Amino acid sequence: MSLTGTLAIPEDVLEIARTLEEAGYETWCVGGAIRDALMKHPHADYDLATAATPAQVQSLFKHTAPVGEKYGTVGVLDKRRVLHEVTTFRRDVTTDGRHAVVSYGVSLDDDLARRDFTVNALAYHPIRHQWRDPYSGEPDIRRGVIRAVGDPAQRFREDYLRILRAIRFAARFEFTVEPATWAAALAGADGLSRLSAERVRDEWFKGLATARSVATLVRLWRESGAAARLLPELEEVGAELLARAGAIGPEERDPILLTALLAHDPAAMLRRLKASGAQIERAAAIAAGPESPAGLDDAAVRRWLSVTGKAAGDLTAFWALRHASPAPWADAARRIVERGDPLSRGHLAVNGGDLQALGASGPRIGELLAELLERVLDDPSRNTRDALIALARGRL
Ligand code: ATP
Ligand code: MG
Repeated sequence: MSLTGTLAIPEDVLEIARTLEEAGYETWCVGGAIRDALMKHPHADYDLATAATPAQVQSLFKHTAPVGEKYGTVGVLDKRRVLHEVTTFRRDVTTDGRHAVVSYGVSLDDDLARRDFTVNALAYHPIRHQWRDPYSGEPDIRRGVIRAVGDPAQRFREDYLRILRAIRFAARFEFTVEPATWAAALAGADGLSRLSAERVRDEWFKGLATARSVATLVRLWRESGAAARLLPELEEVGAELLARAGAIGPEERDPILLTALLAHDPAAMLRRLKASGAQIERAAAIAAGPESPAGLDDAAVRRWLSVTGKAAGDLTAFWALRHASPAPWADAARRIVERGDPLSRGHLAVNGGDLQALGASGPRIGELLAELLERVLDDPSRNTRDALIALARGRL
């Protein structure tokens, strides 16, 4: 790995770069895709930096999407509908720790200077196969180091999210944060409370999805002081749970299930992070349980499926996550659902009107339906109109 080799840039990305260059705008590949290429990690979406303004980019391509026009970024869709971010060379004029005011008409080197970490500030010219690495990102990749571009304290003051990004990249690549950058993160941690809930949530979710070890991610959130300020729940994770989290594979990284695993009140944490209503509801249902059926026979599993409703899938996956083995009732539950066994009042062969016709009234109707459902959960073959009406008659 060195900066003399050539990178195999995907044809679709090359075509975007050629279109811009042929129109007279210098264009480089930058950011995550170049960093990952040097580490031989696959990366589908490319970031391109160009001298063209957002309006000029938009006029050159048929399929674009507004991504962050205020910051000079236009999404360009390739033939396979993969979105690549094309960003105008820019310099950050002012920042308040959260937002930047940007100016265009600057050079590639100015653009690289405003990037967060040296490993993210490398550029590659896809047509001339030329490298630009003014901040020595390549040696940092080789040594496994996350280092701020420029003065780390100032860079964190400009945007405190960079502290969380440093943690995320360190956990993702199992890199260390360079000592001066780490010291500045610790010193600047109070600034984290100024970040919007949405940006914190995005970093937390992305971190969970990409960390090589979830335990390392949690440890870095704690050691940096980010947990204490933003996710105090993480301070309470015990050693055993942390060890379990460290063994969770990359295919099991559902952010809601993982948050539920680590926080004792996951719904409250997600509410604070302004997660979606559906995500908060999932977390609340996981915490509410019941976490498992009372037994492993079909009747017990049906009863549990009936009580947990649409949370059953999450609860089954959650049990597997906690215990590091598949839930023992998972196969029975799948068969029950496939067979279409009745699991709710709506599935019963009689309804409230039928019971009313038998002479039931008021709250007694609901009670009777609940009793009938219990009998049907025990034995689905009872779910015929005649059998249920006979049962109901006997109980009136
Ligand atoms: P990922 O694999 O997570 O997409 P990435 O490095 O591509 O990693 P992005 O968030 O997509 O990260 O950003 C693209 C590039 O823009 C980064 O590599 C970095 O150069 C720059 N960048 C993004 N966010 C910031 C920030 N808050 N401050 C400075 N530079 C940033
Ligand atoms: Mg990216």
